[in-house]
Amino acid sequence: MPPPDCSSTAAPQKNGDPCSAANTRPVGWQQAMKRAIRSQRELRRVLGIAADPQAERAEAFPTFVPLELVSRITPGDPGDPILRQVLATADELGDQPGFVSDPVGDLQAQRGGGLLHKYDGRALIVTHGACAVHCRYCFRREFPYLENGSRKQSWAPALRYIRDDDSIEEVLLSGGDPLTLTDDVLSGLVEQIEAISHVRRLRIHTRLPIAIPQRVTAELVDRLDRSRLAVWVVVHSNHAQEIDSHVVAALDRIRRAGISVLNQAVLLAGVNDSVDALANLSLKLVDSGVLPYYLHQLDRVRGARHFWVDIRRGKQLMGQLRARLPGYAVPKYVIEQAGENSKTPIA
Ligand SMILES: *Cc1c(COP(=O)(O)O)cnc(C)c1O
Ligand code: SF4
Repeated sequence: MPPPDCSSTAAPQKNGDPCSAANTRPVGWQQAMKRAIRSQRELRRVLGIAADPQAERAEAFPTFVPLELVSRITPGDPGDPILRQVLATADELGDQPGFVSDPVGDLQAQRGGGLLHKYDGRALIVTHGACAVHCRYCFRREFPYLENGSRKQSWAPALRYIRDDDSIEEVLLSGGDPLTLTDDVLSGLVEQIEAISHVRRLRIHTRLPIAIPQRVTAELVDRLDRSRLAVWVVVHSNHAQEIDSHVVAALDRIRRAGISVLNQAVLLAGVNDSVDALANLSLKLVDSGVLPYYLHQLDRVRGARHFWVDIRRGKQLMGQLRARLPGYAVPKYVIEQAGENSKTPIA
């Protein structure tokens, strides 16, 4: 079923009317964060999906979906590949043997102040607890964000750690999502990183250009452009349907500042576990000037078992992808194993 035509501002705003979400007027990114959908009940209502009281019990990991992303979901289709990433279901509940709360050993690798140092030469700052969308498969869905760097001053220990270790040449800002910080706060943090002379590269891991593309403001791009650091932006998109014309324009704004943009995706059952879905995603990305970087095997976090794809199936898909795409459009298929010194290649 094609998305409804919601271009008429006269669309009625009645219950279950798909246009009530898709037809919202454009707003600034902070306003977009404020008006995001925050309950499964509302998400289902807006998209015309039957209510499910069972699913609401899964909201210990809260719902957060901006209307900008909702507008790319086909109303009435519970199998929509974007919806599936944000829709809580009863599948999340109950015991899931082998699926645990901290699957990649982040609690082990913490060095205080929201710093994770697992790999040579690279340190990651968990900059902020907020995300622009809550993905139900997230490996950090149980991460104790509130104790980690959600306030500006708590970055001090992370910055001190980086200052004290001159083997760290690259700083990754991840989260949560670092672009949920305001331009001013982010700029202040980048300035403190720039002041550490042995740091040469800055990497920003963010889903915001996908979820709320208007986050890519001229001020943000100018600030990164002015940095003495080589800046890389790694976005996160799992399906071509996430990349609409607004997203393409946002990616373009980043690239025009000479910043390289990479994408990471997660292999997800019912979202992108077909060669067509993966090939279309890669082609949409490269046509938008974005290089597919990683395809992650799902981290086994409790509540995400229904997204699991067999590694054997993953390898098969990678073989089919290689046969279909230019080499540069094929992502590296990797798994993260606690205690390893890099992501582990699978195929
Ligand atoms: C994934 C990750 C990185 C970056 O790894 P790359 O392979 O360089 O992309 C760095 N630090 C941590 C803690 C990570 O989880
Ligand atoms: S944007 Fe990233 S960190 Fe945030 S919920 Fe989604 S997968 Fe997790």
